[in-house]
Amino acid sequence: MEPHIAIFPTPGMGHLIPLVGFAKVLIQKHNFNVTFIIPTDGSLSKAQKSFLEKLPPRIDYVVLPPVNFDDLSEDVKIETRIALTVTRSLSSLRNAVKSLISTKRFAAFVVDLFGTDAFDVANEFKISPYIFYPTTAMCLSLFLNLSKIDESVSCEYRDMSEKLRIPGCMPIHGSDLLDPIQDRKNDAYKWILHHSKRYGMAAGIILNSFKELEPGAIEYLQEKETGKPPVYCIGPLIQMGSKSENNEEYVCSKWLDEQPSSSVLYISFGSGGTLSHEQIIEIALGLEISEQRFLWVLRCPSDTTASAAYFSIQNSGDPLAYLPQGFLDRTKGRGLVVPLWAPQAQILSHGSTGGFLSHCGWNSTLESIVNGVPLIAWPLYAEQRMNAVMLTEDVKVALRPKSNEKGLVTRLEIAKVVKGLMEGEEGKGIRSRMRDLKDAAAKVLSDDGSSTKTLAELANKWKSNIFTLPN
Ligand code: UDP
Repeated sequence: MEPHIAIFPTPGMGHLIPLVGFAKVLIQKHNFNVTFIIPTDGSLSKAQKSFLEKLPPRIDYVVLPPVNFDDLSEDVKIETRIALTVTRSLSSLRNAVKSLISTKRFAAFVVDLFGTDAFDVANEFKISPYIFYPTTAMCLSLFLNLSKIDESVSCEYRDMSEKLRIPGCMPIHGSDLLDPIQDRKNDAYKWILHHSKRYGMAAGIILNSFKELEPGAIEYLQEKETGKPPVYCIGPLIQMGSKSENNEEYVCSKWLDEQPSSSVLYISFGSGGTLSHEQIIEIALGLEISEQRFLWVLRCPSDTTASAAYFSIQNSGDPLAYLPQGFLDRTKGRGLVVPLWAPQAQILSHGSTGGFLSHCGWNSTLESIVNGVPLIAWPLYAEQRMNAVMLTEDVKVALRPKSNEKGLVTRLEIAKVVKGLMEGEEGKGIRSRMRDLKDAAAKVLSDDGSSTKTLAELANKWKSNIFTLPN
């Protein structure tokens, strides 16, 4: 019987997608079977369902009974909801593991960055718990040092007079740190701190990044230190364009086929990002002024939160109704607007795509790097500002538009940055650095590349450590 891995993803496509990518390589290259045990706070979204339906036969999944959130207030932060989805699912997780364990040869139990409370269940069954960390080495370095930082800083991080020195990383302003730690009195901060303190309990941390992208941070993470689990850099792992085409895939790839090489700017704010109506109008008019080709994934606006679609994706209504009047006619032929969700992996790997205006979610960033597509950084929430700072100021593969005093990026600024990336001198430098990173990514993923070897090392460790139920 093949060795088996149980994976427990916390809510969010940005967590599920890379974990499935990870499961696929474990199956293809190391002959594991995988079961996803999925907690939810309601029914699965359309995007989640269609994603899960396409899983290969050796990946199984069990959806746990939805947890109840009737007691939560409307304004609770997503990280709190995610953490509570985990704690409220523990007894059903225990039952699921119990029923699987009698028929499978379990080698490891993998959670993502907010799943450490599930370690207790893994430990009860004596299965080694691992964290799959789906974002940067910089953010992981922050998590591993957060309790020390928490003790030494007394104000809100955004009010610190000096930049914060996260081990191995460029100094960063407190206001650019991840969103859920910006209000230390909020439960979201307490949850992040809680999880970060439990990271030392992991048997290992699997990191979706690679040394050429984040040399300093990865060097720090690989130094041995008490309380720091071994870190396995296996990235960049990304989702590949699927072969089975649905209608959206057909429409996008047909349209891209008709555009000149590297001419299209792809615009997407990830699985959960939303903008205000005013901002949508500025983007539309900025695109018009820029005269560039574009493919834009559009959601209905939200004027209150930038993560309004995180738990649902299909926010209600017709997003196209929020565009300026006549916009679709005026940009016909050079622009395509896709409501809600687009086949991003396929779009970024298409030769006509020449730029990506992105919210800097880590999966989107890695997908851009693997395909050598330069970025415009437009962070919204979570750790996206940290990623944007790194991509613009450190790695220098992105341009970043400036917002005005009201927090709005105006049409003229958008047009300037879009033209700058697609045809300006600055864009050329960024494009060439992105090409170098693409080559570096291909190298670490090649047969004798560092990420391939690290994954093999981890797989061998797991195979030699299979848990069997005591008689
Ligand atoms: N994605 C997609 N189509 C969309 C929006 C997102 O396929 O219309 C995928 C994207 O390719 C990436 C993931 O969803 O793999 C989003 O993850 P990321 O870390 O970039 O951002 P998050 O959604 O977590 O904010």
